[in-house]
Amino acid sequence: MDNVLRRGLAVLLAAVLMLSAAGCGARQAKEETIGRVETTEEEPTTRRDRTTKEETTEEPETSTEALTEAPTETEATATEEVTTTEEETTTEEATTAAPVALRDPEAIIDTTTTLYTYAKMQDDLQYLAAAYPDICHLYSAGKTEDGRDLWYVIFGNPEAERQIYICAATHAREYMTAQLVMRQLAFYCSSYETGNYNGIPFTEIFDKTCFYVEPMVNPDGVSISQLGEEGLYRQDLRENLRAIFQSDVNNGTAETTDYARYLVRWKANALGVDINRNYPPGWETVHERSVPASTHFKGTQPFSERETKAQVAIVESMSNPLMAISYHSYGDLVYWQYGQPEPLWSGNEQLAQHISNMTGQYLAGYSNEAGFSNWCIIDKGLLSVTVETGTVSAPLPLDQFAELWREHQFIWAMLATTY
Ligand SMILES: [Zn+2]
Repeated sequence: MDNVLRRGLAVLLAAVLMLSAAGCGARQAKEETIGRVETTEEEPTTRRDRTTKEETTEEPETSTEALTEAPTETEATATEEVTTTEEETTTEEATTAAPVALRDPEAIIDTTTTLYTYAKMQDDLQYLAAAYPDICHLYSAGKTEDGRDLWYVIFGNPEAERQIYICAATHAREYMTAQLVMRQLAFYCSSYETGNYNGIPFTEIFDKTCFYVEPMVNPDGVSISQLGEEGLYRQDLRENLRAIFQSDVNNGTAETTDYARYLVRWKANALGVDINRNYPPGWETVHERSVPASTHFKGTQPFSERETKAQVAIVESMSNPLMAISYHSYGDLVYWQYGQPEPLWSGNEQLAQHISNMTGQYLAGYSNEAGFSNWCIIDKGLLSVTVETGTVSAPLPLDQFAELWREHQFIWAMLATTY
């Protein structure tokens, strides 16, 4: 796209964002005042050989159809109107040129609470993009049903010869992974000029390899898990959430009949679709749920969800993608087997081993079908692993964060210099 037009659109988008941020303030303030507590209990594993069939004879339909057909716009803005028509992604850069005072790098990301909300993340992304405009470029890849932007960052040299995609919080309750990836982003931004990995300066590493970072793939779901029904803006979506709960209870697929607790354990998006069951490879074979649910419902067709489409748009906008890493919780495992042919079989095992060597996480067996990594490997020919962080069931308690950070701080630099 022509540079003048691009810059013009960026300025227009920045103005829209500022207006929208002002409009969201009251709701965000409300989010911050609501607290939730997690407990730990047995989590269903994602391994295919351990999945259980949960066919039931009667599964009443819930009322998502009207929602999926005609999503209404919330007041949360319309960045889509400022999208480019030329690029395959529906994105435009969302940074301002105004210089900002740099903050203490250690304090940029709030790690004193597990409730690292979408609102906090959005504030941090906008700060980082403004504070480090040469290496942190912020974009929206679309909006969720509940009107949240699906933010991603291009970190490093945007013209780098190859790219690595990193994402987190695909599953709602696994939101500590968003905090982890945001901490990684803040760390690499703030130490870009001075840092090194094994003697190689960050400036050199991230000049050659840039990172496409999507820290919260499923922000509506995260808001449900962190804040409950109040986490959603749209009243019809809240009512739909209750209908999904009732359906899960009636079908015997709710892990608890306590509604508040049920929402804390939520994994899907706001429509009850599991984003990590919404990709084509193996989609036909997934039969864990037949209606919207808190987890494991694959959707009415592959790529049906906004969050899925956004991931696809981001990955497909990369000119020379090297690999895709998807952070989940929990299990302290790296999933790398997706039935892929050689050389991706050996390549992926090697990638998992590199991550394991750094983090101490175990190499796992086959992962579930129809997930993001399946699509990256099988359909896009990329290296891709699913990294399951944490040793207790999600949402992870706060005391898990220090270890996650210790293990994963240098992952980006390791990947970029190993390949
Ligand atoms: Zn997960």
